[in-house]
Amino acid sequence: MKHRLPAVFLPLLLLTGCISKADQEPPTRTAEIFAMDTYMTLKACGAGAEAALDAASARIQELDDLFSVTKEDSDISRINHACGMPTVVRNETAAVIGTALAVGADTGYALNIALYPVLRAWGFTTGSYQIPARETLDTLLASADPKRITADGSVVVVPQGYELDLGAVAKGYTGDQVTEIFRQFGLTSGIVSLGGNVQALGTKPDGSKWTVGIADPEKPDSLLGKVEVEDCAVITSGSYERYFEGEDGKRYWHILDPADGCPADNGLSSVTVIGRNGARCDALSTALFVMGTEPAKTYWQKQRSFEMILVTDDGHIFVTEGIASDFRTENGKEAEILHGGS
Ligand code: AMP
Ligand code: MG
Repeated sequence: MKHRLPAVFLPLLLLTGCISKADQEPPTRTAEIFAMDTYMTLKACGAGAEAALDAASARIQELDDLFSVTKEDSDISRINHACGMPTVVRNETAAVIGTALAVGADTGYALNIALYPVLRAWGFTTGSYQIPARETLDTLLASADPKRITADGSVVVVPQGYELDLGAVAKGYTGDQVTEIFRQFGLTSGIVSLGGNVQALGTKPDGSKWTVGIADPEKPDSLLGKVEVEDCAVITSGSYERYFEGEDGKRYWHILDPADGCPADNGLSSVTVIGRNGARCDALSTALFVMGTEPAKTYWQKQRSFEMILVTDDGHIFVTEGIASDFRTENGKEAEILHGGS
């Protein structure tokens, strides 16, 4: 239940078809690793691919060690156990926290990285699921005000009793870092899927765009559609990714609405954000999922700095105009194109 393997592997199946004439093209190497509590597949194309994969795998491990909420010596654990005192962390940890705080502030705090105690109360941190009492949620939410968190240079301060969790942004940032390493090794082509969050470097070696599958929230083992991309992140947040069913027969999923501490239930079953910066796309995918259908559309219309695919819980698909010609559905459903207007 914790990780639905089909949802994780879905985009990977598409990646395997990227080389058609392997003998005429530069070498392609793949690596599969388990880190950040998820399965990851890395594909690097070109001379130096093997060394790039080794460096990328080591870097993923390093980031897992920094961002893990369970490893005792991670930056996040040290922040969470600092009893209100400032914590000196790696600059990049403070920067990722800063990105999350900025996206939070810009989305009415739909993104809130201080919800870890609330996630724990639901059992999402252990798999021992339960529905917390309203008073429990209210008490925990009182110690989860993102406006009281500061991240400056290498110093992070959170009030006593607060616990941070970078689950909503860490994989997007990691995707950015992996493609950056590929670049440093001279590669111009590669693609990585970190638990279904995809980051593409350049195009396929033959110059065509990469194809990324978007899972159908109704049937996560199947595709809802495919999107063709180059040089960008494709990051999805979905209610189907991690959930449990209560005795009341209702589904309770892992993306919480900071307004009430309950699974965000504002009309969406998945949000895919497509853009250059993986960390920001990851932060936005979670925030827009929480905001819900109409606020997500309005936010995009105001920003226009990313593309997105929304799937509503009643089965409607919306795709923004910048990516519409690169997206096609698999299930015969129509996708409605969102226009920016003037
Ligand atoms: P994602 O799959 O990127 O949408 O991230 C979801 C993960 O972020 C969850 O599994 C939680 O660890 C955490 N999370 C849940 N709700 C929120 C929220 N509203 N803001 C920030 N992080 C959250
Ligand atoms: Mg996210």
